[in-house]
Amino acid sequence: MVRAELFPAGCIIKNMILPKIKIQRLTQLSEIRLFYKFLNHPQYPNHKNLIYNAHPKLRVLLESEVNSKAAVKKYIKNMISAHRTAIEKAASDAAISARSLKHCLEALGKSMGFRWRKPIAYVARPTLLPFSPFDKLSFSFSILSRVYGKELESFSRIAIHEISHFVLFEMLKSIEKQGKLSSDARHYLKEAVTAALFNEAPLSRALRIENYPGNPEIRLLRVKFPSKAPLPLVKWIRDEYSKSSNFPDLLIRLVRIFRASQKELGKKRKMWNRYGKKIFEERRLRNNYSRPILIAKKKGLEKLSLP
Ligand SMILES: [Zn+2]
Repeated sequence: MVRAELFPAGCIIKNMILPKIKIQRLTQLSEIRLFYKFLNHPQYPNHKNLIYNAHPKLRVLLESEVNSKAAVKKYIKNMISAHRTAIEKAASDAAISARSLKHCLEALGKSMGFRWRKPIAYVARPTLLPFSPFDKLSFSFSILSRVYGKELESFSRIAIHEISHFVLFEMLKSIEKQGKLSSDARHYLKEAVTAALFNEAPLSRALRIENYPGNPEIRLLRVKFPSKAPLPLVKWIRDEYSKSSNFPDLLIRLVRIFRASQKELGKKRKMWNRYGKKIFEERRLRNNYSRPILIAKKKGLEKLSLP
């Protein structure tokens, strides 16, 4: 069995309070719930395809069994007992890695101009899902590659990626008092911001990253400002970030721009949910998805100092 790693409540680096990352073990019940949730998720319908691609035997099982809950249960039970050693190894490696992330967490705080006010612990759980979902202050990290004998994406990158979302949501609480973002705009904002920050110092240095592509959903998105050539969304945020190096101010501007672009972002998301990674393969879909989001004519952006 993988032991849950318990850490003291927080640690302090050069007067900066840093959060802890606590690894919890994978349990059969929580895994079944997680699979069931993402096989039927209303906001992430495409995740079902990701699960089917990664677990073809589950698909066969679900197609032949009447009771889908029982089928998921049967499949997960078998997976966990067949791959127990690999699962435990992945979880204990993550626990070791979690203890050495102080410099990355510090870089994350610096990159976002954010300070944790009190010591908190984020919970990380290994999962057999092919992606790493999160929920409030906890996230799951996929260990599926380890089970299939492939190289595992580094725990530190997954952890800092997910924690960057938690920090962003914390910062959005006050910014969104002026008006909330739609869930699609929020989703794209969080992924684009994380991809941008991971490619810029200090995070790129702390995580030893070069060319971090980020979530596939934001890779093809582009923006277009008046009398400028279209730019990839992430490239534009990176440029703005390196110019201002004041992330909270930049975030306020980004929220306004994303709010003004909610309609287009909603359309992009609909497309992604329908076609998923096919968008990378088929030219027509690709062209459509990467058609630039026009920023110029938006209402409420007149007062902004656009680039
Ligand atoms: Zn993400």
